[in-house]
Amino acid sequence: METPVNFDYAPAPESRAIVTIKPTYGHFIAGKFVAGRKHFPTINPATEEVLSQIALAGKAEVDSAIAAARKAYITTWSKLSGKERGKYLFRIARIMQERAREFAVLETLDNGKPIRESRDVDVPLAAAHFFYHAGWADKLEFAGLGTSTKPHGVAGQIIPWNFPLLMLSWKVAPALATGNTVVLKPAESTSLTALLFAEVCQQAELPAGVVNIVTGDGSTGALIVNHPGIDKIAFTGSTEVGKIIARAVAPTHKSVTLELGGKAANIIFDDAAIDEAIEGIVNGVFFNQGHVCCAGSRLLLQENIVDEVLEKLKVRMAKIRVGDPMDKNTDLGAINSKEQLLKIQDLSRVGESEGGARWSAPCDFPKKGFWFAPTIFTGVTQAHRIAREEIFGPVLSVLTFRTPQEAMDKANNTPFGLSAGIWSEKGSRILWASQQLRAGVIWVNTFNKFDPTSPFGGYKESGWGREGGRHGLSAYLKGVGHE
Ligand code: ADP
Repeated sequence: METPVNFDYAPAPESRAIVTIKPTYGHFIAGKFVAGRKHFPTINPATEEVLSQIALAGKAEVDSAIAAARKAYITTWSKLSGKERGKYLFRIARIMQERAREFAVLETLDNGKPIRESRDVDVPLAAAHFFYHAGWADKLEFAGLGTSTKPHGVAGQIIPWNFPLLMLSWKVAPALATGNTVVLKPAESTSLTALLFAEVCQQAELPAGVVNIVTGDGSTGALIVNHPGIDKIAFTGSTEVGKIIARAVAPTHKSVTLELGGKAANIIFDDAAIDEAIEGIVNGVFFNQGHVCCAGSRLLLQENIVDEVLEKLKVRMAKIRVGDPMDKNTDLGAINSKEQLLKIQDLSRVGESEGGARWSAPCDFPKKGFWFAPTIFTGVTQAHRIAREEIFGPVLSVLTFRTPQEAMDKANNTPFGLSAGIWSEKGSRILWASQQLRAGVIWVNTFNKFDPTSPFGGYKESGWGREGGRHGLSAYLKGVGHE
């Protein structure tokens, strides 16, 4: 008798030995780490282990960080040529590459995302963002934004927990390249890679005060937003907080960019390459546990391919490996926090009670930590909350359409407008559809592709302004950005 062959993946854990996590962290102000007064724990969402105690900045710390940024702006950064600023950015980018493994391991421990993604996506893209903007620093007059562009001064930057280091680089790199100094606040559940980045700034001998990092929660964010010493606010996070910020800065001199929520339609026409589209659907909504503002969380299927796509999609979803994010074979890691898990569970229950049919891939979860299986809802209509609200988790709502025009109408029937996906072999249909869709980023026969040269941002309640590319530079220059 033949012995059955076991094709299961053996565990392939990444070692955490490369990172040293301190028991307590302070703030990074004027080039130095300054002890905090109050602290809160940061945990590993895959194990619920307390990793460290993070400082909570109040008014005194925010005041001193903004004062340090102003001083650095006046005394050093605004006096340097673009070429000199560029050298610092190149240096930061190279150090990030040298310390890439350390960043990836730390990001995965603090955020819960699979090491494969932090190692292959977040960290390389973060370094690429610095390299790209380093190149612009001495060429701003050739960006088509005027020949005598001026920075705003001090930028206040507030970022979310889904791509902690990458969002930091989207904020810090263009700000420094254009000559601004910054005060950045990472999200409360994922501060560690920002604090490691502060060490990189020291290692790069960036002049003191050019980058300041204060940690804390929404109250710290609000102190930055409302501070009179800030000239520009850049925010990535929820639409709800984005609206609070827009209201707060409206009567002030502050310039603002907002990168908010989304509910992207991923549209599969019947002439699409179905097997490729299946991969695109999976990457579109299950990448990074679905904690992606541009996630393709509304699947729009042409009616005559519904059965084929759903059957193949379920087979593919059953192969998604959920579990230890430090395992190099893991596809879907931990949900970032208990709070976020409760939100996903709650909206999924709403989906069921509104009449959606739920199917979740079979998974064995680790005993501790926050987990949610890749899930799809069929029989969803446009009025269902799971078709309208951002779930920010591995949950896909499936809707159907008969004609291309119906697909466009359904895709645009949302208060958001961040991204969209089109799957078709037909060039004319692709061009037509991409002109109909009200979304800032449109992917064709792919999804969730990011590049520092490409502007990213939304329409409607998905935000104001663009990040990345030449367009992203304008947000950090006076008179050419969204004022
Ligand atoms: P999420 O719901 O994804 O956690 P949030 O918009 O609440 O997104 O958080 C994104 C970032 O905004 C975090 O760094 C958070 O601390 C910060 N934040 C939350 N509330 C406020 C506020 N009222 N003003 C400024 N920043 C805030």
